[in-house]
Amino acid sequence: MSSYIDIKYLNIISPQLQKFKKKDNNLSNFRCPYCGDSKKNKTKARGFVYQRKNDLFFKCHNCDVGTTVGKLIEYLDSKTYKDYIMERYKTGSDTITPKPEFKFNAPVFKKKSVLKGLLSISELESDHPARKIVDKRKLPNSSLRDIYLCESFYKFTNTLIPNKFPSLDGDHPRLLIPFRDEQGEIFAYQGRAFGIETPKYITIKLKERDKIFGLDRVDKSKHFYVCEGPLDSLFIDNCLAVGGSDFDRLEGDFTVIFDNEPRNKEINKQIEKTINKGSSIVLWPEQVKEKDINDMILSGMSKEEVQEIITNNTFSGAGAKLRFTEWRKINAY
Ligand SMILES: [Zn+2]
Repeated sequence: MSSYIDIKYLNIISPQLQKFKKKDNNLSNFRCPYCGDSKKNKTKARGFVYQRKNDLFFKCHNCDVGTTVGKLIEYLDSKTYKDYIMERYKTGSDTITPKPEFKFNAPVFKKKSVLKGLLSISELESDHPARKIVDKRKLPNSSLRDIYLCESFYKFTNTLIPNKFPSLDGDHPRLLIPFRDEQGEIFAYQGRAFGIETPKYITIKLKERDKIFGLDRVDKSKHFYVCEGPLDSLFIDNCLAVGGSDFDRLEGDFTVIFDNEPRNKEINKQIEKTINKGSSIVLWPEQVKEKDINDMILSGMSKEEVQEIITNNTFSGAGAKLRFTEWRKINAY
């Protein structure tokens, strides 16, 4: 076991860490030596060391640096680092070098510096107007921890991408839905209007990659679902949400759930394309009138009922072609 060596050496270098505090045996907090934490605020301390399996890892909540405690020791004090390596080598624990894993459930770590200053919906009082609007959507409670209120969407976005919105005229609050990668890092986010502001959705990319929502939650090695809306995906187990054209590059064993808009030509084209590609697809039955999963929930269906309709109306291959032809006739005006 190596963690006692990690703990021992963390204690040895702790005098070099400003505001070092041991929260408990597995969690220490101090000012981040990499970014210096806040220059303005000397009391800010956003560097953390926490235990994962047998090792201790470092993570800064300000600059997002994440590394092993070994690397942190090396960064601070090369002599102590040599002793550390020697002691690990002697005990044979050097063979265990798991990759740092930064995805764990303590929310304080999950909230990345990208979202600095924003409150999650779960942090808002129940009578807060934004909270009330979201509560009306009946989203699963657990999802409210990672959806945020962004009071001034243009202004906030400009702090991340300078001049993204050249004018702040008409700036307004939006619901901010982060798109995280498999490691939990935010690479894009969507701002959903609370009211009638247009467009209803604005997606901001921080990195060049496909706009796929839910990568941090979905296990793609199992069968998974793909729908259009991030909020809709929260109601379905193991479900991603993918923006329009990015569907084409998705790989794995999955079922596509388009919105229920049988008279939308664009969606019909995409359905046809998906069937021809060989993916399985949901063709909503006539009795379902709601246009998306969230609306089905709002009409009184339970998550399980929606899931059952999905299961019973999933088609692929020749069956999908047949059902699609029939489905188009039923829905044609
Ligand atoms: Zn830092």
